Amino acid sequence: MSINEILEVLSNACGVTGRESQVKDIMVHLLKPYSDEIQIDKLENVIAVKNGKPKAPKIMLAAHMDEVGLMVKTITKDGFVKFSKMGGIDDRILLAQKVIIYTQKGARLGIIGSKPPHIQKEEERKKIITYDDLFIDVGAESKEDASKIGVAIGDPIAFDIKYTNLGNDVAIGKAFDNRVGCVVMVETLKLLKRTDCTVCAVGTIQEEVGLRGAAAAAFGVDPDLALALDVTIAGDVPGVREFDASAKMGKGPALTISDSGLITHPKVLRWLIDSAEEKKIPFQLESGLLGSTDAARISITRQGIPCGTISVPTRYIHSPVGMVHLKDIEDSASLTATAIQRIAKHF
Ligand SMILES: [Zn+2]
Repeated sequence: MSINEILEVLSNACGVTGRESQVKDIMVHLLKPYSDEIQIDKLENVIAVKNGKPKAPKIMLAAHMDEVGLMVKTITKDGFVKFSKMGGIDDRILLAQKVIIYTQKGARLGIIGSKPPHIQKEEERKKIITYDDLFIDVGAESKEDASKIGVAIGDPIAFDIKYTNLGNDVAIGKAFDNRVGCVVMVETLKLLKRTDCTVCAVGTIQEEVGLRGAAAAAFGVDPDLALALDVTIAGDVPGVREFDASAKMGKGPALTISDSGLITHPKVLRWLIDSAEEKKIPFQLESGLLGSTDAARISITRQGIPCGTISVPTRYIHSPVGMVHLKDIEDSASLTATAIQRIAKHF
């Protein structure tokens, strides 16, 4: 499968944080041909192991499988679904979105509604409608009717956005944070073929609500080094200062120097930069980022694990639809694989 095809399958799947099983199954299927063993730990992190030589370093790759989304919180007596937010979502982008509720009886479509603007008071119209004043309309007549079609408290809810390749290697779709990183991980294993290091490619759960899967997986894997494969904000759109988001779409993988949870280990940064320069892979450096990745949590596991982050610049992350350049995914995988191949020069 091509990068475009893999991203399409992963992007269209539902993996709202805490309910990652659809994505987990796809990842097992995609990683299996390139690994010696697949483990699923008790929290349902996927760990694909590629065995190397016993004395060579063990490296963990971490790509989180979850996405920001919603969850059914209550159902009103008139059959409207009230919801909670799973992960960081801006309330302003919720209104009028088409969503899919994944019920025990299958997927149900709905739309996010609110009080119509015509009957809102002047002051109301100026205010942001927060998520607790919104609801999902699934066309049910009553609470009983909603239950009958399968809607239940706790069901995960994802945005109904279908993956589309716009041409010029640019694609749009949902959950690019972090299905894009998942694709980078699959492609890295594909490129690796034989290596001296043991590689544990981990699809982590619940990153969006506090890097939880990575914490448990890193303890279990106990690697010598780790790389988080994720996305970063592409700031190359109107209204964004370069100071706030310097990464640009289509200009290669971004290497994190520092973010809110990690200052990349200097040896890891050197290793990644040298690898990119040697193979002439384009890259961008980012420092002082406000967000963070699984690497933040992995780096303080056990006695400490040197970590780095390779991210694909992606526009509009944490909104219903993102945009990515497929070449950046290819370059990120090629950089990750190259770095692993030449690890002996650095560690
Ligand atoms: Zn992410």
